[in-house]
Amino acid sequence: MGKFPIADAEISKIWICKKCKSRNKAGAAMCRKCGSKYLRPKRKALRAKKAAA
Ligand SMILES: [Zn+2]
Repeated sequence: MGKFPIADAEISKIWICKKCKSRNKAGAAMCRKCGSKYLRPKRKALRAKKAAA
């Protein structure tokens, strides 16, 4: 969970195209930019800076 719950919620709505890396809405059938079907949800897997230093 990130620092800002609202930001986390917004990020979780974004899917990233594996092909062109453009942002798409969550649940999109295909990339709106290149038409690729290979999308992945953008998760909060980003490594936290200074996690527990
Ligand atoms: Zn794309």
